[in-house]
Amino acid sequence: MIYEDYAIFTPGPVKMSEEILQVGAKQTPYFRNSDFSTVTFACENGLLDMVNAPEGSKVIFLTASGTAGMESAVMNLLNKNDYALVVNGGGFGSRFVDICAAHAIPHNNFKVTKTNLSDIKSLAPNETYTALVVNAHETSIGHIYSLDAIGEYAAKNDMLYIVDAISMLVTDPLDMQKSNIDVVIASSQKGLALPPGLTMVILTPKALERLQDINSLYFNFKDYLSNGERGQTPYTPAVTIMLQLEARLNQIKKRGGITKSIAKAKEVANYFRKSIKALPLKEYTPYMPNAMTTLTPTDGKSAIDIVNVLEKKYKVMVCPNGGAERDSVFRISHMGEMTTEYTDILINALHDYYGVARP
Ligand SMILES: *Cc1c(COP(=O)(O)O)cnc(C)c1O
Repeated sequence: MIYEDYAIFTPGPVKMSEEILQVGAKQTPYFRNSDFSTVTFACENGLLDMVNAPEGSKVIFLTASGTAGMESAVMNLLNKNDYALVVNGGGFGSRFVDICAAHAIPHNNFKVTKTNLSDIKSLAPNETYTALVVNAHETSIGHIYSLDAIGEYAAKNDMLYIVDAISMLVTDPLDMQKSNIDVVIASSQKGLALPPGLTMVILTPKALERLQDINSLYFNFKDYLSNGERGQTPYTPAVTIMLQLEARLNQIKKRGGITKSIAKAKEVANYFRKSIKALPLKEYTPYMPNAMTTLTPTDGKSAIDIVNVLEKKYKVMVCPNGGAERDSVFRISHMGEMTTEYTDILINALHDYYGVARP
């Protein structure tokens, strides 16, 4: 159960760097003081910079998993007078649909397959919407959408553009200004490569203007914003993970900035895809992010068996799919502290499993 000596290719939690692990090994400090406010401000400014948020944008820090970021964004920004177009290309899109239903937000369950929505203008049901909600990378199948095309469509139709970027930040490009994004949801345990427990909602001035009074104490963004003015949160934050986030943002900078990190993820993903060409495995979608490769066996082998053998025999953790896709699909994350050398462990294990010599 404790995977210390395993090679990790799961899409969250992902492999963390030694430097970030060290920060997590220290005593958690008291946080209601100016020292910790400095940490919060560093995290906020670092994140805003990383996603190129417009001037005046703010970050809400929640001690919760990513779904709380999704739900609280919907709760604070949408109401019964809205009509949201919710992109549903898999498990996470359908979670946004469930969230809208739970909060009685009128929505269109826009089911999509086999498109990255670069043609959203012609694909979207022709109605008048107030908001567009999408998971930039639909992690359940490893499929990434065109944030630019969707943003252009959202801006043209005056829709609030809410993007769950949890599983593509740091590995794939996201530019709030360039793509007209109003809200970005981030979470610690995926591309940011931190432990789970910290979720962030980034709000532009346009989104800040739309914040409403809501029936919730813990998820009331206005409360977070007023505390945020002095670098604090209304309730105890995930103090250690915030210290790790500050260190991680510095690490990304030291390594040459966000474009370097994205380029590295792309290099690793391409290396992996190229290195398994001789194996009876097919890429599930043509719209793969750098964050992940999703594979389907083409020789009748069961995906879940491959996942289990990789774990038991080779000590390599990849991610199975559930339900109907249990036997046909499995996923390999390239998020976190990845190198081509580390990825060789998985590539070699797959070749050994199939009894195919690595070319
Ligand atoms: C992992 C993930 C989430 C959040 O899941 P939690 O288990 O609540 O942290 C949300 N959206 C996407 C696209 C994800 O990959």
